Amino acid sequence: MTHLLEVENLEVKFALRFGDLTAIDDISFYLDKKEKLGIVGESGAGKSVTGFAIINLLSKPGYIAGGRIRFEGREINRLSAEALRQIRGNRISMIFQDPMMTLNPVLTIGTQMVETVQAHRRIGKAEARELALEKLRKVYIPSPEKRLDQYPHEMSGGMRQRIVIAIALLTDPALIIADEPTTALDVTIQAGIMELLTELCETEAMGLILITHDLAVVSQVTERIAVMYAGRIIETGYTTDIVTHPRHPYTIGLINSLPGTRQAGSRLEQIPGMMPNLTAIPEGCAFHPRCFLAADQCRRHRPELTAVSGGRHWAACHRLDQTLGHNHLHR
Ligand code: SF4
Repeated sequence: MTHLLEVENLEVKFALRFGDLTAIDDISFYLDKKEKLGIVGESGAGKSVTGFAIINLLSKPGYIAGGRIRFEGREINRLSAEALRQIRGNRISMIFQDPMMTLNPVLTIGTQMVETVQAHRRIGKAEARELALEKLRKVYIPSPEKRLDQYPHEMSGGMRQRIVIAIALLTDPALIIADEPTTALDVTIQAGIMELLTELCETEAMGLILITHDLAVVSQVTERIAVMYAGRIIETGYTTDIVTHPRHPYTIGLINSLPGTRQAGSRLEQIPGMMPNLTAIPEGCAFHPRCFLAADQCRRHRPELTAVSGGRHWAACHRLDQTLGHNHLHR
């Protein structure tokens, strides 16, 4: 079966004066139409680099050093720059945490939307404006006609993020990569944006990759999760399995640090230490300096992803026999 997106053994490096640093180390995953995949981890885990690698927008000195990225059946990391630009603009859209990365502060929403449409389709201004209105309605922008004549600064953060999603929809994308799309928003607005993205996946038959540090958000929205640590996927599978029976100590730590898992009166448990810098990734299991189960073999040998339940849940840990029954999140 051909998936909407297949990433196989992807490797991303940064070419620096003193040598190449590995930012993404042999990761593989797939996504189908209408499916939502969460890529989760702390800052520096390689989540955003993965998103930029998919759309081939890695900023220098980053480059794809190995692996394959197939989208709608085509290997897109080997396409010409022009062919890739077409796919990136039309079939894959990316949404960022800060809507102002996408919006131009000195142009009205209408001008920006019409320009986007006309950059991709040969249609007149009036028709492009109609299409813009249609997409604004899809993202539930009240009084869309009025909004077209406003500037980004005249809107709230949540409204601006909806406008960005409407702009992304202008080219009928098959895949949206949303990088921390709600991190800057308050909780109720966040929930509304997530609900909207979920609905659009269904109605527009799109796939969604949700990149976030927030396991609580992905647990509510996605069907599958890939947890990243130091450039690798260290646990992956169906969201339900991972949040109810996490098996990698890092995922267990992420779940234990969520407010929803705290017992009354107790403090949140934080994972000790920090995500390692790319220049200092520990030997063996990269998580070992922070791991409550670390043993000698963890310092020497890197664990590979291993199936932990019926081929639908994998974790990369030497001590999986010790991680059964740890804390979990109730969905
Ligand atoms: Fe912890 Fe060892 Fe498992 Fe790494 S391999 S997560 S250090 S127990």
